[in-house]
Amino acid sequence: MIHPILGLHHVTATVDDAQADLDFCVDRLGMRLVKKTVNFDNHNVYHFYYGTERGLPGTIWTTFPYKDKGVRMGVKGAGQVVTTSFSVPAASLGFWQRRLAEAGVNARDIETRFGEDAIRIDDPSGLWFELVATDRDARTPWTGSGVGANEAIRGLHSVTMVVRSLKQTLELMTQFLGYTVAGEAENRTRVAAGGDAPGHYIDIEVDPDAVPAVNGLGTVHHVAMAISTGDEQRRLREELLSIGVRVTDIRDRCYFESIYFREPGGVLFEVATIQPGFTSDEDLSALGRGLKLPPWEEPYRAAIEAALPRVEYR
Ligand code: ZN
Repeated sequence: MIHPILGLHHVTATVDDAQADLDFCVDRLGMRLVKKTVNFDNHNVYHFYYGTERGLPGTIWTTFPYKDKGVRMGVKGAGQVVTTSFSVPAASLGFWQRRLAEAGVNARDIETRFGEDAIRIDDPSGLWFELVATDRDARTPWTGSGVGANEAIRGLHSVTMVVRSLKQTLELMTQFLGYTVAGEAENRTRVAAGGDAPGHYIDIEVDPDAVPAVNGLGTVHHVAMAISTGDEQRRLREELLSIGVRVTDIRDRCYFESIYFREPGGVLFEVATIQPGFTSDEDLSALGRGLKLPPWEEPYRAAIEAALPRVEYR
């Protein structure tokens, strides 16, 4: 049975400084902070969610700022998402290069990939981002921070994950998650689910000599795919278990429900529901303004707020 993965849901990374992360994602890239909460597994660390107005699945970039918590620098390598690509309008790369240069961010041209131009930048923690220029993305952008509708990020375009061999990874994704091959280039296979468009792609880069990835500052922790309903999620979980994939139980993330498992190449995958979304505990106009805690953390709010670093953002 092929399960209806709808495309990307979010990408989550471990970063260094909370304020630097906010400055970069909001002020430089023009994303909206749609939720300020804490890491549900460590309430002394923020969890920031960025996206477009509502933080719809497929637009969400999320970070855990682990500065001064004893977390080492990560190593990019096999078994990891190494690059997160955001979708921007086709004619906007000049704007982005000028804007980023003014902020001291070095943007490099990269080779045209599957017919689309892109630039590569590093975030303050050393994460690799791409801005991919495309005329195939009709999603409504969030505008602000000096970024207008003609330039603004539309959401995630794709991620690039590195594995040492393709076969088993591709089999799992095509036979059980519903992905199809959307493009092939040297060392790179693009798969898509839920549509052949930005927000639906995962690029599998094969490098037999890649060093093993090490989780830590400046690396992506996992990529999440969207699934339509909790029922579909439960069915997928049972099926993955039946073929020997070690899947977690269903975790309540407040804004969605999630399961996690590693694909054969070692990359941590999450499958997350669409509902209830980020307006479940804040009005749309106020998303990201308050520190939102899951119900089980509310009794500890005063201590949590006192321990978190102070941050400012628009
Ligand atoms: Zn996640």
